[in-house]
Amino acid sequence: MPGLERRVLDAELEFAAPDRLRALQMAKLKPLLARSWEVNPFFREHWQKARVDLDRIDNLSHFSAAVPMVDKAMFIEDQEIEPPYGRRHRHVMGLGVPLITMTSSGTSGQGVEIHLQTNEDLANHNRVHSFYFAWAGMRRADRTFLTMHVALLAGGRGEYHAALDYGLSVFPVAFYDTERRLALARRFRPRALYGTTSYFGHLAAVAGDEVGTLGVEILLTGAEAASIAWFEKLQRQFKARAADRYGLTQMAVDHMFTCEHGIGTRERPGILHNVDPYVLLEVVDPETGRHVKDGEAGEIVVTSLYRTDVPMIRCRTRDRAVYRAAGACPCGRSWPGIEIGSVGRIDDMKKIKGINVWPQAVDELLFGDPEVEEYQVRLTTDERAGDLATLRVMPAASLNAAKRAALQETLAKALRQKIGIGFAVEVLAPGALDRSTYKARRWIDERVQLRS
Ligand SMILES: [Zn+2]
Repeated sequence: MPGLERRVLDAELEFAAPDRLRALQMAKLKPLLARSWEVNPFFREHWQKARVDLDRIDNLSHFSAAVPMVDKAMFIEDQEIEPPYGRRHRHVMGLGVPLITMTSSGTSGQGVEIHLQTNEDLANHNRVHSFYFAWAGMRRADRTFLTMHVALLAGGRGEYHAALDYGLSVFPVAFYDTERRLALARRFRPRALYGTTSYFGHLAAVAGDEVGTLGVEILLTGAEAASIAWFEKLQRQFKARAADRYGLTQMAVDHMFTCEHGIGTRERPGILHNVDPYVLLEVVDPETGRHVKDGEAGEIVVTSLYRTDVPMIRCRTRDRAVYRAAGACPCGRSWPGIEIGSVGRIDDMKKIKGINVWPQAVDELLFGDPEVEEYQVRLTTDERAGDLATLRVMPAASLNAAKRAALQETLAKALRQKIGIGFAVEVLAPGALDRSTYKARRWIDERVQLRS
């Protein structure tokens, strides 16, 4: 991209030869595995069951093949065996050091995970985040509105610490309602907003055209999967550029970030680069466990390379994404990553009329249409026990009968062609749908479960 400012924090690491990076990761992983075996009964027992021989692991492929994955269900079970923290935290609890307690949001209602971190972990997290801020073009003392609450959730508190550590001037505005946040933005003119992607969409919808006059230059988006079309819409509304991030509660940190190329375009999506010296990223085929190739989709599996007192080793995320290998991005960085717009919860995939449908694909199609402001999909069961998909679309402006019919037809046709199934399309009046203020909840599944 001509004229694009290159923003590098640590050239030696960001552009290191892939072999050197692998060696660096392995050098951190070896002692981490040995220590976890020694002090962490949760991991030791899990590995003993899988007959892992740590001495034989001397490269990353051995590691992936030999060490079994861990997941949310195992953490919950561990907490039930030894409440409230679980065996995996027994060692760190005995150290007598200050700890940060983070919990998962538990929106699925399946129990809340606890993940502890030490101050050393936090210092490393802040270092990981500094790549995000640098690549996004954030400068020291930039006025930054943090729109996420600082609470027990990892999302929010991690952001707060990282922003302070980088030297941003942080305004914790989550306490106030949206109207008040807008008034504060008019008054203090933040250069950046730091929060969840869907909240910025909500803010833009409430503020209308004014949102483009607030002087916001950078949207630090994240905490959920979003399509390129959705990002493009936000960038147009705010007249700002989006810099996206990916992370999870189990890691207690965001560790994949867009570089100066940002979210990219639909033809050439941007890449969320993994901060390789700190976190080992694998994207594997969930069926075979094999690492997928550049451009292929798989499940994200992550290992923290620096958390020695609270290890997180081969944590499967249930997130699916398209893997992009080192050098795939025009920035030339050696850090691999995942493609923007390709991330989705494996559990979110919908089987409709026998066809696998990814909500992102529907999102991409709908937000690619400038007439669409918001939408909702309802899945129900018809009288013959078949699936019925109804799309309810809220247009940006009020439409006359002819225009409504035209939009209805255009969308129904596009959905049939691109998604492969028929949707009943209803065009609503502006303001008819509630806008989600946290993670977008656009799909409602009310189908009668006849099978299983
Ligand atoms: Zn890049």
